[in-house]
Amino acid sequence: MKPSFSRLARRTAIAALLIFAVQASAEITTRENSVFSINFYNNGDTFQNQISSTMDWSETRIEQTLAASQLWIDTIADTFSTSKINLNLVYTTFGDPNIIGGSSSFSFRSNVGIEDNAPFYNEATATELKWKFGINTDELWESGTPWDIFIQIGKDFDFTDNGFTRVLVHEIGHALGVSSSLFNNRDEKRSSVYNKWDSLLVDADGNSVATSDLYTSRSSVLGKDIYLSDGTTQIQVYNPNTYAQGSSFAHPTDGTGYNLTDSILNYSGNPRTASPVAFSDLDLATLRMLGWTLRSDIVPEPATATLSLIGTFIFAIRRRRR
Ligand SMILES: [Zn+2]
Repeated sequence: MKPSFSRLARRTAIAALLIFAVQASAEITTRENSVFSINFYNNGDTFQNQISSTMDWSETRIEQTLAASQLWIDTIADTFSTSKINLNLVYTTFGDPNIIGGSSSFSFRSNVGIEDNAPFYNEATATELKWKFGINTDELWESGTPWDIFIQIGKDFDFTDNGFTRVLVHEIGHALGVSSSLFNNRDEKRSSVYNKWDSLLVDADGNSVATSDLYTSRSSVLGKDIYLSDGTTQIQVYNPNTYAQGSSFAHPTDGTGYNLTDSILNYSGNPRTASPVAFSDLDLATLRMLGWTLRSDIVPEPATATLSLIGTFIFAIRRRRR
């Protein structure tokens, strides 16, 4: 497996941010939560010598971020046995108070398929590799400080408390594979590198977006009805007529049979809501299709089930004898 730096600086807003790069430096706040090691960059702290945070992190926002990471910990059951997921957060002045946030993931490519049964699926984020496959990607770095997730949050956005946590859950979700690599290149041509999500993308006739001759450029696929499909479940993907980097092809959006309103992973997740921070059935179905094992799907061990049945049986007999 050959590491390659593929996704930093996805947002066009980043160039403008460099203006703010020279500021007084504060202390980076670090918190550990299970599989996550989280760095909060305060006003003037710079991530990887590139992006400076424009505001300090309050204890409230830190706690809400920890709550967002906790929802992921409580949802994903895959075994984690490698180096922690390194999550970095900065406040950003996007220049537009309506821009909520953005997520970048460090990704790795392999010359063969990451899963043997999907040879065309040859890219995964470091977060996926650590948490889903148990691969310590930190060992694949040849130089520099390893990182896995980089999230920018709109400094001037008016979040509700729950809305803030939901946005963090959403952005972390992109690092777990809710993201496309097919059409992010500037020249409009489809990439030959694609991830698990891309391997599931089909049109209404079942043609693969990643491999069909119909979709070799971005413009050929824009505005079409595109779905994540594994043969059983079908979830429509956000694909407007006008391409938006980081939005198009990177979010579930189908309401048919699912609860779209409460979805955190969909593209218009409401950052002003007071709704509790929980995944909707659409979100959970999306994560299942990406190959994650969900704690809520795990059936109790047969031994445990039998024991509890015996317990009930004995209890019933005793009652009857009274
Ligand atoms: Zn998103």
